[in-house]
Amino acid sequence: MDAAEFRRRGKEMVDFVADYQENIEHRRVYPDVEPGYLRSMIPSEAPLEPESYEDVLRDVDRVIMPGAANPACSELETVMLDWLGKMLQLPEDFLSETQGQGGGVIQGTASEATLMALLSARLKTVKCVQESDPQRSEADIISKLIAYTSEEAHSSVEKASIIGGVVIRMVPTDEHFSVRAETLEKMVAEDKATGYIPFFFCATLGTTPCCAFDKIDELGPICNAENIWMHIDAAYAGCAFICPEFRPLLNGVEFADSFSINPNKFLLVGFDCSAMWVKKSADLTRAFQMDPEYLKHEHQGSGWCNHLHQPYSTHKIHWGIPMARRFRSLKLWFVFRMYGLRGLQAFIRKHVELAKTFENLVRGDNNFEICAEVVMGLVCFRLKGSDELNKALLKQITRTGKIYLVPCKLRGRFVLRFVVCGRTTELRHIQEAWKHITELSSELLQNLFDHEGKEN
Ligand code: PLP
Repeated sequence: MDAAEFRRRGKEMVDFVADYQENIEHRRVYPDVEPGYLRSMIPSEAPLEPESYEDVLRDVDRVIMPGAANPACSELETVMLDWLGKMLQLPEDFLSETQGQGGGVIQGTASEATLMALLSARLKTVKCVQESDPQRSEADIISKLIAYTSEEAHSSVEKASIIGGVVIRMVPTDEHFSVRAETLEKMVAEDKATGYIPFFFCATLGTTPCCAFDKIDELGPICNAENIWMHIDAAYAGCAFICPEFRPLLNGVEFADSFSINPNKFLLVGFDCSAMWVKKSADLTRAFQMDPEYLKHEHQGSGWCNHLHQPYSTHKIHWGIPMARRFRSLKLWFVFRMYGLRGLQAFIRKHVELAKTFENLVRGDNNFEICAEVVMGLVCFRLKGSDELNKALLKQITRTGKIYLVPCKLRGRFVLRFVVCGRTTELRHIQEAWKHITELSSELLQNLFDHEGKEN
């Protein structure tokens, strides 16, 4: 959708809302659909090819309006998470349609998904320890719990451990910045020997600094054997697993208890939208289930509840922190249908290709070096030389305001990160960005050369 169409559609949407308000008196205040009504009204998979905006909007009237805010909100969310799960080729255990124990939910952010996973794992472990040792207090068990994540993991994992009041240890990575089974296994054994209870491991697929991938296919069996909840944070890179060529990086997800990706990072969905799947939804809902009088209703357990005379979804209330929930699944529905799976794959492939182009430009310049393998849309690079030189380059880049780079540290070295992330980024933007970077770096190197010349 270009700007002109967006303008037109936006105005039409205002009319849609105004019509709704004008006619609201003629509508029921409580929907008269049966729980589960929505799934049979839409396909069970995302379309391969794009559909028109008109088609989607027509379906809003046909499918969503009879279910009002809820149960339509929670039912569409459940089905969209199945669509996305199938696009990612997740094991059936994670899907709702199989009527198993798993399913998906939309959290606001990846940080919340990790926190939910950690808190659920905490409760599960406390209950498990108390089963074999009923005298042991919850406080005593929690004080002995220990979580693990990569030294390269996003800071939100450590934050989750702070909120959850548990100790966390950072696991060292190999030469590819990946956590390996042997390292985790050794740490778990050490901690068990000193009385700790290992209970949670957050693996990362696509680390924030350099988009590295933990070896979940070898880490998963260890977590399963040790009763450690494995959560996979694939906030950015996970979106690319809808392309078959990237899907092998997700091999091992079958060992995970929970998994999350952010469609708002790399799948054209507006912020906020973090998709989270769990293999046993009861692990999550048991941790957060509350049962006050005002949430009781005739469809108890079916996905509905009656709160202040408005239908809400009990189903999703117990899957996270908030009770009232935004209708985020509409964003997924619109994006999946208007791009189609093939359109989304093409978008991801284009970004990866543009990143490869940038990588080649860097490799072709002897003043620069690439600092980590380029797998998706992120290129870690630096000027050969000191951290100070690279910091000076970044300062100049930021000062001129044409492009914006967020740095990181890799093995103690200051590194620049170039990420392709715009919806409308084209080859010329990459070429212009590189030209800009090399012009600034040439000035910088020349000044350094002149300065050193004077000193000598
Ligand atoms: N996990 C990873 C791997 C990330 O790269 C990021 C953000 O860049 C996050 C988590 C945090 O995401 P959110 O802002 O959705 O909490």
